[in-house]
Amino acid sequence: MRVLVSGGAGFVGSHTVVQLVAEGHHVLVVDSFVNAKPSVVARIEALTGQPLDVRAFDLTDRDRTERLFAEESIDAVIHFAGFKAVGESVERPVDYYENNLGTTLSLLRAMEKHGVTTLVFSSSATVYGADAPVPMREELPTSATNPYGWTKVMQEQIFRDAAVADPALRIALLRYFNPVGAHPSGTMGEDPAGIPNNLMPFIAQVAVGRREKLGIFGGDYPTVDGTGVRDYIHVEDLAAGHIAALHRLTQADEPISVWNLGTGQGTSVLQLLRAFERACGRELPYEILPRRAGDIAESYADPTRANAELGWRATRTIDDMCVDTWRWQSQNPHGYPDA
Ligand code: UDP
Repeated sequence: MRVLVSGGAGFVGSHTVVQLVAEGHHVLVVDSFVNAKPSVVARIEALTGQPLDVRAFDLTDRDRTERLFAEESIDAVIHFAGFKAVGESVERPVDYYENNLGTTLSLLRAMEKHGVTTLVFSSSATVYGADAPVPMREELPTSATNPYGWTKVMQEQIFRDAAVADPALRIALLRYFNPVGAHPSGTMGEDPAGIPNNLMPFIAQVAVGRREKLGIFGGDYPTVDGTGVRDYIHVEDLAAGHIAALHRLTQADEPISVWNLGTGQGTSVLQLLRAFERACGRELPYEILPRRAGDIAESYADPTRANAELGWRATRTIDDMCVDTWRWQSQNPHGYPDA
């Protein structure tokens, strides 16, 4: 298949691209490089052993997107592109709505015009909102607690409405839990700009000496040890989930399929920190801080539907996630090179 991968230079996108190429698909990456460094492309090419077709532009540009679909024959789209920082979305809501909804609308228009019906969407467990019972199942109602989360809820709704109007569409809404880990080669991983918002990259930067200590947001949650519990999933398992979804869509009877991509296992902040200490071989300093606004105590998936319908399962352990993250971070203390 010729697969257009939006945001293919990002964390989950880059790992998925490597797996798609390994499976023999022809990949066309579109990325604005606003939140990804161009040097990731050479890393992808080194792993696949072949040149990667990359177009650097912003998919909110409808004319440019339309031209791409006119010039290339595209069989399917995997749509990763989007802004994803919760705190930043509160500061810059209009940017988040404009970018995240704009890319999706522009892709859907071009797909409609050029008869492309298959799309895999990078959604998030954030659409389960603040009060969802765990383990989280796909049937739960959706809501959000911040503009980033609302863009995911709204994009899911846009896809649902588009599918009512055009029942030929085959769209997968993949609700990711907490993607972490890195490519086992140590050459690709997560490379957030500035101070990491997410736990795993923060721990990795403490381990490599870029940050003094981890601040743990809340030690009094009703959880195993008082710290927040999440369902961390290795990016390699997550990437494989996209390919399984792409295959499944070719035989799907319904226009919209919703699948949780998680392990089904909850891990606390302290448990993740301890696993990382085992991986890097030393103790890591931390302090307990007040809770972070908008955080929930526990989030983990019920992955039964994805396991059954996709024939897919997350297999990497928390220790695998920490070992691979540490290999990436220790080999690339400052992330991808600038040039
Ligand atoms: N967390 C933390 N310190 C940090 C970043 C995150 O204690 O510097 C906690 C956070 O409160 C949550 C868990 O780690 O319980 C995962 O947070 P992350 O932002 O990675 O994911 P999300 O909250 O979106 O699930």
